[in-house]
Amino acid sequence: MVVGVPHDGGTTYQPGARLAPYHVRRVSALIESYHPGQGLDVFSRIKAADGGNVIFPPFDRGAMREAVQAEVSAIAAAGAAPFVCGGDHSITLPILRAIAKVHGPVALVHVDAHLDTSSAETWRDDMHHGTPIRHAVNEGLVAARQLHQIGLRASWKDHAAGDVAAAHGGVRVTADDVGEIGITDLVADLHARIGDRPVYISFDVDAIDPAFAPGTGTPVVGGITSREGLRLVRELGGCNLVGMDVVEVAPALDHADLTSHLAAALLFEGLAVLARRG
Ligand code: MN
Ligand code: MN
Repeated sequence: MVVGVPHDGGTTYQPGARLAPYHVRRVSALIESYHPGQGLDVFSRIKAADGGNVIFPPFDRGAMREAVQAEVSAIAAAGAAPFVCGGDHSITLPILRAIAKVHGPVALVHVDAHLDTSSAETWRDDMHHGTPIRHAVNEGLVAARQLHQIGLRASWKDHAAGDVAAAHGGVRVTADDVGEIGITDLVADLHARIGDRPVYISFDVDAIDPAFAPGTGTPVVGGITSREGLRLVRELGGCNLVGMDVVEVAPALDHADLTSHLAAALLFEGLAVLARRG
């Protein structure tokens, strides 16, 4: 079930992600059903539906979290996999709360330029788009040693900023590492670590180099390519994927819909992973 969460009340810099679901939907009209990389017809293998956008007042972050958790809980409880188009990254916390209630703590594949483990120190508020991973870890939504962060490169507040992720374990792969290790070896390692655990992919488009994905509010130069991002999701094929989000697309900052096309393609890659599992 694909749903949109038109919310950017958690952004700390340039807003605009609340409009992403509309634009990603529009450009998704270009996507056809057969996935040559997985060698299968996605929409004949799985039943996929567009569930529309989750409804809440766009300025009310608490209402957003309640509505998203309720919607995702209903989807997951019905045996379906939520595929969520954000919205800024603060939407991922209520999704993971709902997912963990149904599937237990997940292996989290978090693709991002940023750690997203900030606390309230900077803004005296800890429910913004730089904090969802810290909450998810502290609330036990991520299984031990199953926080896998890929594409990291943004500067940190201080040396201790990496402690939350380091203490929880899993892999921390910088954008440079992706270039050096290569996606195939990287994902082979992920498969070995994750096994058959339930996997959730949270894909922040700012993991991708702004040369390929300019339409995002907190761009960081020196990122992975769109091709690497797409292959990362594709090669997770065979894993027990229970849901996915793509967040931080800001259409007003985009050029020629490039970042919306990327988000639609990433979600399709995820649906193809689901279809391969059957
Ligand atoms: Mn980010
Ligand atoms: Mn993020």
